[in-house]
Amino acid sequence: MASDSIVIVGGGHAAAALCASLVDAGQGHRVELVCAEDVLPYQRPPLSKAFLKEAAEPLQLHKDGSWFAAQGITVHQGDRVVEIKRDSKEVMLSSGRRVGYGHLVLATGTRARQHPELSVALDNVFKLRNAADAQLLRHHLHTAAERELVVMGGGFIGLEVAATARQLNWSVHVLESASRLLARALSPELSEFILQHHNAMGTVVDLGVSIGGFNVQGRTLTDIQVAGAPRKTSSLLLSIGAIPEVELAAQAGLQIDNGVYVDRQMRTSDQDILAIGDCTSFDYRGARIRLESVQNANDQAKVAAATLIGSATDYQPTPWFWSEQGGLRLQMVGLWRPGLAVVPRAGTTPASFSLFHYAGDELLAVESANAPVDHMWARKLIEAGRSPSFDLVADRDIPLKSLL
Ligand SMILES: Cc1cc2nc3c(=O)[nH]c(=O)nc-3n(C[C@H](O)[C@H](O)[C@H](O)COP(=O)(O)OP(=O)(O)OC[C@H]3O[C@@H](n4cnc5c(N)ncnc54)[C@H](O)[C@@H]3O)c2cc1C
Repeated sequence: MASDSIVIVGGGHAAAALCASLVDAGQGHRVELVCAEDVLPYQRPPLSKAFLKEAAEPLQLHKDGSWFAAQGITVHQGDRVVEIKRDSKEVMLSSGRRVGYGHLVLATGTRARQHPELSVALDNVFKLRNAADAQLLRHHLHTAAERELVVMGGGFIGLEVAATARQLNWSVHVLESASRLLARALSPELSEFILQHHNAMGTVVDLGVSIGGFNVQGRTLTDIQVAGAPRKTSSLLLSIGAIPEVELAAQAGLQIDNGVYVDRQMRTSDQDILAIGDCTSFDYRGARIRLESVQNANDQAKVAAATLIGSATDYQPTPWFWSEQGGLRLQMVGLWRPGLAVVPRAGTTPASFSLFHYAGDELLAVESANAPVDHMWARKLIEAGRSPSFDLVADRDIPLKSLL
């Protein structure tokens, strides 16, 4: 048993960032990475954007195999941890291997939410969470004869795929049950702008729709019941959210709270087990939250590395996120919530602007559309805890840089 070794479960952004941070720290720990997917850790954001659009676009690996080998990191590719034995401090893999750990790090991410009435795999129903999903969907988008896509769920992934499919000249119909797009994450003002953008791209977006059921023949979905009427459906993307992969942790008796519960140093309720990335829930300004973003995965990995090498530091995130939807670049920093006062700031073109959101006179969040420079400075303002007055941020002749 290698009692000083660090075993990382998961082969995504958080796992890759943790490997890099441990190597940078140069502490010489033995590291083993168990990756369920049969591919080295890769960048997930392009899967709904450039990777889907370009038939020959390769996966962007975080590091190639020779890097892991050179760092002495053992990668168990295409293998899965099926059980954590906390008493003997070892994990059981689906291949039958047992791997002992000194510290274990769970970086298991999320999985796509399934629709309860569509539990069987159908040839024309797609989801998008990993490289295998993206390869299937890409092949379909580039080869199908009937080019009509129904996207169920107007969240980030659904809208990114909708925009990419339009760019590939598909007709696209987005069905969203809420009364506006991205309602949980974004302000109504930005939602409305995004809706107009998709409409201008030629996408039909139906809001507040109820989906009543699915008709299936063999392995093919033929139509779905929308607002009580059947709608012929030749291709469907199910993008109705993600759920955290917490089963391993739950079976091992770790505390779960809408994600694997972690403290500010990324420790779970077992001090020898840490968790990072999309699968965790953590304290943010007095509330427990879970984030699905590259920023969160990378920053939590750095904090976990510090904990593992004995120089623990607190996770104090400034959440940020981006999305690209057919030429529209969205950037968000801080977390928007209902009830904030909004101050718009125009950008250099009509389609370029930022929205500054305040609780009282405290700047809490900034959303930007096609305004990367303003957004960069807005992020620095939030990171520095600055809250310039409404009239200063609204005046586009005053550079945000000068307000730092
Ligand atoms: C299509 C798409 C587009 C996105 N676009 C953006 C974007 O534009 N901007 C942004 O900030 N974020 C984006 N995200 C979100 C971002 O990719 C995630 O927040 C990030 O990947 C989280 O990293 P993670 O390591 O926590 O989880 P993941 O990257 O999901 O990795 C988890 C890994 O763990 C593996 N695993 C799970 N269970 C086990 C087990 N028992 N044993 C071994 N391995 C296991 C999984 O197979 C997976 O490979 C996007 C996500 C997707 C799917």
